[in-house]
Amino acid sequence: MKASELFFPTLREVPSEAEIISHQLLLRAGFIRKTTAGVYTYLPLGYKVIKKIMNIVREEMDRAGGQEVLMPIIQPAELWKKSGRWDVYGDEMFRLVDRHNRDFALGPTHEEIITTLVDADVQSYRDLPLLIYQIQNKYRDEIRPRFGLMRGREFIMKDLYSFDPDDEGLDISYHKMYEAYNRIFQRLSLQYRVVEADSGAIGGNESHEFMVLAENGEAEIVYCDTCDYAANVEKAVCTIDDQESVQDDILQIEKIHTPGQRTIQDIVDVFGIPSRRQVKTLMYFADGELLAAVLRGDRELNEIKLKNYLGCNQLFMADQESVMAVCGAGFGSLGPVGMKVKIYVDLEVTQMKNFACGANENDYHYTNVNLGRDFAAEKIIDIRTAVVGDECPHCSGHLQSVRGIEVGHIFKLGLKYSQALEAKFIDQKGKEQLMVMGCYGIGVSRTMAAAVEQNSDANGIIWPIPIAPYHVIVVPVNAKKEDQMNTAQAVYEGLLSNGIEAIIDDRDERAGVKFKDADLIGIPVRITVGPKALEQNQVELKKRWENNIELIAVEKVISEVKAIIYGRE
Ligand code: ATP
Ligand code: MG
Repeated sequence: MKASELFFPTLREVPSEAEIISHQLLLRAGFIRKTTAGVYTYLPLGYKVIKKIMNIVREEMDRAGGQEVLMPIIQPAELWKKSGRWDVYGDEMFRLVDRHNRDFALGPTHEEIITTLVDADVQSYRDLPLLIYQIQNKYRDEIRPRFGLMRGREFIMKDLYSFDPDDEGLDISYHKMYEAYNRIFQRLSLQYRVVEADSGAIGGNESHEFMVLAENGEAEIVYCDTCDYAANVEKAVCTIDDQESVQDDILQIEKIHTPGQRTIQDIVDVFGIPSRRQVKTLMYFADGELLAAVLRGDRELNEIKLKNYLGCNQLFMADQESVMAVCGAGFGSLGPVGMKVKIYVDLEVTQMKNFACGANENDYHYTNVNLGRDFAAEKIIDIRTAVVGDECPHCSGHLQSVRGIEVGHIFKLGLKYSQALEAKFIDQKGKEQLMVMGCYGIGVSRTMAAAVEQNSDANGIIWPIPIAPYHVIVVPVNAKKEDQMNTAQAVYEGLLSNGIEAIIDDRDERAGVKFKDADLIGIPVRITVGPKALEQNQVELKKRWENNIELIAVEKVISEVKAIIYGRE
């Protein structure tokens, strides 16, 4: 490719809307352009990277026994009504109506389509297992589309669905995908970690996320400093630490006047009661029913755990007005004593004695409150968010935390969709059975952003070789000088005829400008043809991730480049 003909509109300035490095660099280097919030065009260089990621994903899916199809993006509402998700999916689903007033969705995911298809066309155990996948645009009207390709509203996903006759079969399919995903992220040269993930309300089902490690990742991962336990913080199990249990005698409950003191910190400041000796009471609506969640004053509620426990479709924080109407007090004065709705109490509260909390009366709190004596729990469950320093749920080690970008998610669905959409087959004994399903996603476009997040410096992107848009850029220092241009052209053609993807920067620009662009777009190897070296029949070779420049003989270029490209992977 000639740089003079390549469409790569680079920007000098950092675009103001781009907060994180991958978003900034993909815009600046001319890989993507925004069309509207969360919707992007992939320019030639960007689309080349996308295709390379797709190819690696495709090869590994095929190797694991997957068969590629292409399903429709437009999906009829009936299928979603049948699965029960038309109402549940909520505002994240893009919906449209055709000329006959029929409802459709732009596919946010494809369980409904694939399960219906397999149900219609697979009858016997002999046809199972079946692993079907596609690579395609997905549509989700995310509340906060941001960070460029990281969280788009239109994005590219690989989604595979497995159909097995029984749980043992699902275990095998799941394991195949687990292995294939590891191969994919290794081949992409990304530093990643596999973590236990939340598997939703159906519970008990296995799920893992593949996280590319990055400071700007939206996900928090906790991992044990001793064993190999690692989980998304949304999922991380909290155990109770026996050492923590307070041994004090149970004291008489007292009501105290706390005018204007509405937060945990206010009670710390005025009464010197540490936050770990207070409880907080949070009010939620779960599918319309008001409830209270109670946990230690210095802890965060994990809404996902609570939602999974309740098995509800919608869980959101209650508004002040509804809370006042039922509890007779505002947010800052709530507590479990005399609470009129069901109370879900965090496990850790069982270790607390004589704690403080709101009195359900504005400007009053109680002290010396005790679970059991002063109030009853509807249920005692693990609903807090794990934090650094917590005891590991598997060993006596302690939890640490890092941030990550979720690039892949594998999930045992079990019978959830086969039941709703009646995907059945006839087993060996002639009996009708439900198929056991799994689903496995990779965010292809998000992976491109994650790769940049992990591979850049002050000058631009440093593409990992397996997904670099081109391997080599050949830069004649002065494109007007015939000898330089001739050598550059010969080197460039030699590379091409050896199957190496190369650009020749034939533009009539200063060398400095060309070097800057080469760095910005992140091509792994730069070959510079300059006057001095050329006298010795030499060129300069620079690897994008190193500072030093090597002089090499022109006739050695191909073998050197091959060693770098094929040797480094
Ligand atoms: P998240 O928690 O980030 O919203 P999710 O759980 O909704 O992700 P899945 O439904 O499991 O994601 O989708 C599979 C993969 O698709 C994810 O692992 C991620 O890599 C990618 N993905 C999901 N949502 C987006 C998005 N809005 N933009 C880009 N990629 C996405
Ligand atoms: Mg999501």
